[in-house]
Amino acid sequence: MATRIDGKLISAQIREEIKQESRAFAAAQGFVPGLAVVIVGDNPASQVYVRNKKKACEEVGFYSEVHALPADTTQEQLNLLVDRLNGDDRIHGILVQLPLPAHLDETEVLLRIRPDKDVDAFHPYNVGKIMIGNPDFLPCTPAGVMALLERSGIDPAGKRCVVVGRSNIVGKPMAMLLLHANGTVTVCHSKTRDLGAVCREADILVVAIGRADFVGADMVKPGAVVIDVGMNRRPDGKLTGDVDYAAVEPVASAITPVPGGVGPMTITMLLKNTLTAAKKAAENRRG
Ligand code: NDP
Repeated sequence: MATRIDGKLISAQIREEIKQESRAFAAAQGFVPGLAVVIVGDNPASQVYVRNKKKACEEVGFYSEVHALPADTTQEQLNLLVDRLNGDDRIHGILVQLPLPAHLDETEVLLRIRPDKDVDAFHPYNVGKIMIGNPDFLPCTPAGVMALLERSGIDPAGKRCVVVGRSNIVGKPMAMLLLHANGTVTVCHSKTRDLGAVCREADILVVAIGRADFVGADMVKPGAVVIDVGMNRRPDGKLTGDVDYAAVEPVASAITPVPGGVGPMTITMLLKNTLTAAKKAAENRRG
């Protein structure tokens, strides 16, 4: 039976560390880290994420503000808000909640966020820095996975790592972080031939495809570590991952549940990035 990697517990430990650091930072610098979250429209899932981010900021003692804009906001209005936040000294991190309504250009907005305030690490400047192994910010979900591995005593060095999914938000940066941690990394996607055979080679299997309970026991090597990034709603409304937990648990050596695995780590890493951004701002103020 696999060890359950408890993302809720690990996340709570890291948030406590961030809270202590934030307190010490505020005492030394005279200001607290600040995060601005921008949401456009009324996507219910996005609204939940934004509320959770604000609450998480409050719990660790950060300043936070939410800018909820109507669905008919124009590109120019959104750009102006980003420009204002770019110039606001209380704000060290800016996050624009995706997806945006179809009439708005996500790339244009992400390019407009100042790279040193880009705590999601989606700006091409930060993506490039991740690629060359010199990141200022780590992308939140993949960084959350790396923290889960590290705090569970699992070192990717020398291991066969298979990432299923190649999105810019999860799959690609995940592969890059595992590579920087000296894993031997394969990235799979919807065109991969014989996906099961590739997955069965993995010592560490990370799945981020958005297909409920897709990975079964036949795709997992006995003793593998299985990380499930997926978040899917079953028809009965229950949250489930991309991995069939009940089937895979007896085969794997360690596995993350959904909910309570990778999910809580993503916001935790966002807090960590905001603290990092505030520290950089303090350094710059000292000049
Ligand atoms: P995307 O839809 O952007 O990307 C999905 C990727 O999976 C694509 O690369 C796609 O391949 C691949 N894929 C889809 N179906 C298959 C298949 N049958 N076999 C192999 N590969 C497949 O999703 P995201 O990366 O944004 O998210 C993935 C999952 O992770 C979702 O469930 C999402 O909700 C969740 N998520 C969870 C987060 C958390 O905090 N826990 C944060 C972000 C996402 P191709 O490129 O060929 O189309």
